[in-house]
Amino acid sequence: MPTEGLAALRDERLGLLHARARAAASSFYGERAHHTLNGTAFSAEVEAHPPFGRFQLEAAPFIRAGLASAGLPRPTPTAWTRADLDAEAQLGARALRRAGLAPRARSSDCLEGGLVVPGTLAITDALDALDALALPVGPVVDAAALKRAAEVWEIVAPTMIIGDAASIEFLYAASDYLRPHGFVAFLTPNDAAALSAAARDDVFRILSVPQVCTFVAGECSEHAGYHLAEDAVAAEIQEGRLLLSTLDRSLMLLHFDTGLRATLDRSPCACGETHARLRF
Ligand SMILES: [Zn+2]
Repeated sequence: MPTEGLAALRDERLGLLHARARAAASSFYGERAHHTLNGTAFSAEVEAHPPFGRFQLEAAPFIRAGLASAGLPRPTPTAWTRADLDAEAQLGARALRRAGLAPRARSSDCLEGGLVVPGTLAITDALDALDALALPVGPVVDAAALKRAAEVWEIVAPTMIIGDAASIEFLYAASDYLRPHGFVAFLTPNDAAALSAAARDDVFRILSVPQVCTFVAGECSEHAGYHLAEDAVAAEIQEGRLLLSTLDRSLMLLHFDTGLRATLDRSPCACGETHARLRF
């Protein structure tokens, strides 16, 4: 979508959200719709109003829950509706395609299987939407886990290995396995140093803030910043810090303070994508 079209769409959605948030009597927001929401306030709201806080403006059934810890003082439950999961699967497919994973390609993920997000369920949904092969093997952070995974990788030969910061760093340094063409690293605000580290040609980093969006932004083949999912998330930089607002998620978060220092680059990227890039 052209840049002006994206900006208009984002502003329209944000305006509507603010109006709805102020109008919803039982919502967390009320007069707070314009305030910054930090991790401490998010966790406190969920604990005061279990199970997921008063962030949902319209009661739609949740069909998946997990524990978010990205930028939060402690692991805190969050949840997704059917529509949320469908939207995330499409965003995930786009982020993985941007990282070089083609439809019908084979991948394998080393993410946690349950509870912890971003986990293997979200990635499997994205791979499903992309029509690519998923092969979850669980976290690989020691020799024993690598031996087990390497045996199946030898047979399946995934072209892309997907994992969190710990698994990808371990695998990047390891050598005794069939190395894929590339790695996808899911990083959260708890991985600030890894987000701002120098780019590597064969590692595609994705910023994930699961209570906002599993696929907030990701690196393209140019490795010159992280393309923001501007159709799902609005980013603002306030005093150098990255704030995110959800544009269409059922559990609505407005101006969530990720705690990350970032800049927003709206200049065109050589890859041709029009979505702005975050730089950390
Ligand atoms: Zn690009």
